[in-house]
Amino acid sequence: MKIPGRLGQGDDDREILGIESGLEALQLSSEFQGVVEPIEEQGTDHDFCEHFALIYETEEERLSSGLPFIRQGLERGDRCISVIDKDAREDLLGAMRDVGVDVDTALESGTLSFKSPREMYLQSGSFDPDEMVDFYGDVIEDTVEEFEGLRVIAGTEWVLDEDVTMEKFLEYEARVNTLFREVNAIGMCQYDRSSFPSDVLCDIIRTHPHLIYKNTVCHNFYYVPPEEFLGPEHSDHEINRMVRTLLDRTEARVELQRTMNALRESNNRLQEFAHIASHDLQEPLRMVSSYLQLLENRYQDELDEEAEEFIDFAVSGADRMRDMIDDLLAYSRLGNRDATFDQVDCTGILEQVRIDLRMQIDESDAEILYDSLPTLVADGTQLELLFQNLISNAIKYQDERPPRIEVDATNRGDRWEFAVSDNGIGIDPDNTDKIFQVFESLHGGDEFSGTGIGLALCQKTVSNHGGEIWAESEPGAGSTFYFTIPKGGDR
Ligand code: ADP
Repeated sequence: MKIPGRLGQGDDDREILGIESGLEALQLSSEFQGVVEPIEEQGTDHDFCEHFALIYETEEERLSSGLPFIRQGLERGDRCISVIDKDAREDLLGAMRDVGVDVDTALESGTLSFKSPREMYLQSGSFDPDEMVDFYGDVIEDTVEEFEGLRVIAGTEWVLDEDVTMEKFLEYEARVNTLFREVNAIGMCQYDRSSFPSDVLCDIIRTHPHLIYKNTVCHNFYYVPPEEFLGPEHSDHEINRMVRTLLDRTEARVELQRTMNALRESNNRLQEFAHIASHDLQEPLRMVSSYLQLLENRYQDELDEEAEEFIDFAVSGADRMRDMIDDLLAYSRLGNRDATFDQVDCTGILEQVRIDLRMQIDESDAEILYDSLPTLVADGTQLELLFQNLISNAIKYQDERPPRIEVDATNRGDRWEFAVSDNGIGIDPDNTDKIFQVFESLHGGDEFSGTGIGLALCQKTVSNHGGEIWAESEPGAGSTFYFTIPKGGDR
């Protein structure tokens, strides 16, 4: 068996094309709308190899994993080889063209190629794992001269059609894990769940370190390393592995529960602290404000201009502090426990927000556009406050143009995604996370007044509903605030 040496040693400093790359391709892709289990930095004895098994039930599932995998390869300059049947090939090419990939250039240059199982696996007429491993060794060696790495998508329909024993095929699959490790190669095998018998599927799961199933990428704890899978004491090893996995899983669940309880407790304590602090600060602040006023009224004639100016500064500082304390109190009160979830019509909510913000809208000549918005299960009061904060900001953070604000909702299957976009001054993209923190104002000072709590309130509301909130913006070209609310009041 010929395996080329590890790249990155010697004259080539390229990073090894590894599992992280494949995970990233799926995680960042808009086609693959699922979850990707992160790689734990430590504390795992799972073997990470560059070998995924996609077990699919629909052609959409097959495409949504294959497309980003290949597209990332083409972007990186990898040699991408696809061994899939004609229909799957047409689907993949069509989908890549639809998302703007220049497949014709990639095909012409050889960066992307399609091979039949005969050209790949059955070159000598029959399937032989030793030959395949040698063949891949050669392909990898050729590839690294010209390309960044090798990326293979391997359909497996042919295994059922040809005279291939499952033992040989699975032996080959197990050996791919050793073969692709530490060389610039990564592979995704694709299995149609309905075509393979269940005992074979069990072994397919055992031989692949990373599984993609139902748009979820898992580091597979049923994985059995090749030396064990192919070795004589397979069952013994597997029992040890199964029992250890069970113990680890139980330990991890207990630990998670413990952490969640501690988090809940510390969250409650924090909330209580914010509430008590803001509530108890109101009284001394009231004293400061009223004695300042008394001082101003009673000693007006004796104060010179400078002293009056100092008192003005102190009064406006106290006023600002009162606003902040009031907002902090509102923030600490906005807990999940008091929320009342009901059917809420968002179009009605927006009508109400327009009425509440009438003065701000009239003064700025703002235009607020929306079509009919969905009805969903939510806390109406919190949702109204959320829209009110976002729209009020969209009006406030504006240059000389009249504000033009659009609100729309997109059905994302299990959740609604709302977007509130404006044509305002925008936000530096480096700060689009920061603005959701308490007391965080980017455009403070005299130009725009605010306490920096509005978006923190929005974030708390959205999280009370089990959703997410984020902003996208380009300075000078406006901002869009997105938030999601799961359907069915999932929180
Ligand atoms: P506040 O408006 O009281 O300062 P927020 O929490 O509502 O507090 O907003 C935090 C910061 O985010 C604001 O100070 C502003 O800098 C920025 N921001 C919020 N909404 C927008 C928007 N639509 N356009 C530009 N900047 C915004």
